[in-house]
Amino acid sequence: MDKNSYKNMLETIQEFHNKHDFKNNGGEDLAYRVALMVEELGEISACVTKGKSKTYLAEESADLLILLLGTAISADFDLNEAFWQKMEKINQRKSKIINGKIRVSEFKGVDK
Ligand SMILES: [Mg+2]
Repeated sequence: MDKNSYKNMLETIQEFHNKHDFKNNGGEDLAYRVALMVEELGEISACVTKGKSKTYLAEESADLLILLLGTAISADFDLNEAFWQKMEKINQRKSKIINGKIRVSEFKGVDK
């Protein structure tokens, strides 16, 4: 199996959803999934604020990615297509240094 394939990742997560019957047990409820993603984001944050290892950061990032791909299944949207469309859009944007850190955005309502 090609581990770099988005399609294979999505199929693996679909099998995981099927194995635990997420569809019929609340596992594909969008609000619940958002709460789970926030929980994982907090764990990623703790890697930074508590100085946890890169191994732990990678594992928590994978947790978030798995939930995100599963959310694409649950909410029935094409995340792969959305990714490429969004990258095309943000590649057109300008960057600014704000408080010493780079930000790429539309900067609506921000003084030039
Ligand atoms: Mg986790």
